Amino acid sequence: MARLIDDCLASGSSAMTLDDAVALIAVRFPICAGIETVALQDADGRILAQDVIAGINLPPFDNSAVDGYAVRHADLAPEGETVLPVRGRIAAGATEAGIAAACAVRIFTGAPMPAGADTVFMQEDVVVDGAQVVLPSGLKRGANRRVAGEDVACGARVLADGHRLTPQDVALAAAVGHHRLDLRRRLRVAVFSTGDEVAEPGAALRPGAIHDSNRVMLVALLRRFGTEVHDLGILRDDAAQLGSRLAECAPSYDLILTSGGVSVGEEDHVRPAIEAVGRLVFWRLRIKPGRPVAMGVIGDTAFVGLPGNPVAAYVTLMFLVRPLIARLAGATVRPPLAIPVRAGFTHAKRAGRREFLRVVLHRTPDGALEAHKCSTHGAAGLASLAASDALAILAEDVTALQAGDIVDVIFHDRLG
Ligand code: AMP
Ligand code: MG
Repeated sequence: MARLIDDCLASGSSAMTLDDAVALIAVRFPICAGIETVALQDADGRILAQDVIAGINLPPFDNSAVDGYAVRHADLAPEGETVLPVRGRIAAGATEAGIAAACAVRIFTGAPMPAGADTVFMQEDVVVDGAQVVLPSGLKRGANRRVAGEDVACGARVLADGHRLTPQDVALAAAVGHHRLDLRRRLRVAVFSTGDEVAEPGAALRPGAIHDSNRVMLVALLRRFGTEVHDLGILRDDAAQLGSRLAECAPSYDLILTSGGVSVGEEDHVRPAIEAVGRLVFWRLRIKPGRPVAMGVIGDTAFVGLPGNPVAAYVTLMFLVRPLIARLAGATVRPPLAIPVRAGFTHAKRAGRREFLRVVLHRTPDGALEAHKCSTHGAAGLASLAASDALAILAEDVTALQAGDIVDVIFHDRLG
């Protein structure tokens, strides 16, 4: 699957823009997820491998939108009230009946319209007088009637190949006649942490050690992306051991992720390990945080070495790995929705790189949404990442943001 055509972006070349890196994904990585047929009950969050075509009209037949009285509009007096005798009763699920001239039919929500009737009075709007009903004036022809196919016409494409299904989508598929769908197999993703200082969460910390926070975050996010996640633990800072472990695991997974060890320090062994056992597509992105990130392949398995700093790991997972996963899984790549809000802070930045700032959102007295930068701003500020609502995105060409400027934010929950 993920076979590189050539390596024009070798490791020595300069950092790439995020847009170039994402564009490169589509060129370099083929879809690798196979196809399986899945019952609708299990399809939420999965990726369609087929277009979904309506096999029937929705609704399938003309029916009443309310509980009330069906009439022929032509039987209504042009002015004032109309009194009609009630003949017949149609509940939901009943087979269609007709309507006699100058009569009303008692009808309930979802019941088929009697042949010839075109309008339904809500029961709240009428007065029942024995076997007759008194109908007010002014109701338009066709009121409270749902016409066959008005929501979806038979033969229409309701969902497209590559779409990630929501609960609403599976409801739509069911309504138009499907009970199972062809979906992409879940991607198998392996996650490692790297670093001699990194210890399991809950372990007693020896001096110099930290708890592994990246792995639990990455596993949680990858589950939200709909992948089958395999937590493979912590690797030591040893290039040979790293390389052999990654090479050994690669055939069992579609994608391997590591965090840590991708900078240029002597103790950063992930990049040399990938160069030894696989091939690098690029490393280093023009973003902050998240500049040191390596993307490549090991055999036919895609690989991304994320930065060790937790905020940088988060940003690169969301903005680089997420589109990679979409591509490998055959999903349509949809950039997360950015919302323009007012900046409640000033910020200076360097041109040429995209910056992601942790922000909280407030509504101002004049009703506008305003973003405030979280106080700690190092790449390692996990507490401020957790406290933030969103990431503000400052484009490559921006050098300064003034309070009152408009800035794009992406809410964390739109990223999942
Ligand atoms: P590195 O990229 O290996 O130089 O790591 C950068 C920073 O991230 C260092 O302070 C590491 O201790 C920290 N770090 C690396 N891996 C993890 C991890 N799994 N969880 C939390 N912090 C980490
Ligand atoms: Mg390290």
